[in-house]
Amino acid sequence: MIKDLFINMTILISFISLGGQVAKKHNYEENNSLRTKIIIGTILGTLGCFLMLFSVKVNDNTIIDFRNIAIVISALFGGPIPIFITTALIAVFRVAYFGVNIASLIGVVAAVLNSFGCWYIARRNIKTWRKWVYSIIYVLVVATIALFLILGNRSDFLIIISIYWISFCLVSAIIYWYIKYSLAANRLFNRLQKESTKDFLTGLNNVRQFDFVFNSTMKNALNKEESLSLLMVDIDFFKKVNDTYGHMEGDIVLKELGKILSENCRHFDEVSRNGGEEFSVLLPDCAYPRAMQIAERIKDAVKNHSFTLSTGVQIQITISIGVASYPETIQDIEKLMEKADTALYAAKRSGRNRVCS
Ligand code: GH3
Ligand code: MG
Ligand code: MG
Repeated sequence: MIKDLFINMTILISFISLGGQVAKKHNYEENNSLRTKIIIGTILGTLGCFLMLFSVKVNDNTIIDFRNIAIVISALFGGPIPIFITTALIAVFRVAYFGVNIASLIGVVAAVLNSFGCWYIARRNIKTWRKWVYSIIYVLVVATIALFLILGNRSDFLIIISIYWISFCLVSAIIYWYIKYSLAANRLFNRLQKESTKDFLTGLNNVRQFDFVFNSTMKNALNKEESLSLLMVDIDFFKKVNDTYGHMEGDIVLKELGKILSENCRHFDEVSRNGGEEFSVLLPDCAYPRAMQIAERIKDAVKNHSFTLSTGVQIQITISIGVASYPETIQDIEKLMEKADTALYAAKRSGRNRVCS
């Protein structure tokens, strides 16, 4: 029996690890796409079927299984669509594999009751661990009634039920701990991934991500023989803003500027904060005349925008933009950034609030 329990634990942990990978980007059901929900429901339904196949032998003519754990997980961490799929798979497999008999029918009814009950508990506004405990107690009560209907007249019924309760509680506690660990690891992974690519102030690409995107966009442009333009953007006299209103207010301006840049380019352009008050806009498949148009539009949008500080004071700023376009203004794509920087420097030197190429 210990060997069977160990096999069941291994199956459960394997499926949870697999499910955790599938739903890596999402922690709770409300964020998941329909596709992810269907996959989660199918994985947990398959888990339920495996748990039925690898049931635990209590004595010569009695077996128990942990399929209900799949239903509890599906209800608590999946949502209505996964729980429906999980329950349907378990019910169909129960009848198809073990045949139509009274025990199968009781098993199907119990699975349906469990899914409704666990879904009801999952929707309560209580802590997750409480939902888990209530769900486990609920499915155990349903399973006890089901087993009573099937084995109630047997002399060892109480022993079987006791073994079922003890092993189910033990396995479910370990599984709950593992799911929590898996969710925490996913959350941390997503946070680190976001923090390693995004600028914390503006939410734009940070300089590391800019390098990555820049290199891949360059390769893409060469492969597809497309044009590629780059705008380097720098705020004019930003030091004055900081000196007059303070660094915190300067941050508000930087954040707002990030929004203006994003709003005034195409949705697939890459806007980054390359450092301090310097930004860049990478324009894939964008020839020189269009790049100049976009740069002028951004420059004018910033000039005409009133930046509202935390005190309610409204200020105006201007920006200078350097434009470089492959292949029109630079034939060596590797020098695109250098060229855009030089153009930015020219814009500064020639009076600021302007676009140079
Ligand atoms: P120019 O027109 O020549 O670009 O003048 P400038 O004052 O904008 O240029 P300079 O490079 O001398 O100053 C940039 C300023 O940007 C200095 C620094 O205090 C400020 N700065 C850099 N990073 C941040 C930041 O994260 N937050 C705030 N508030 N200010 C920053
Ligand atoms: Mg600067
Ligand atoms: Mg500046």
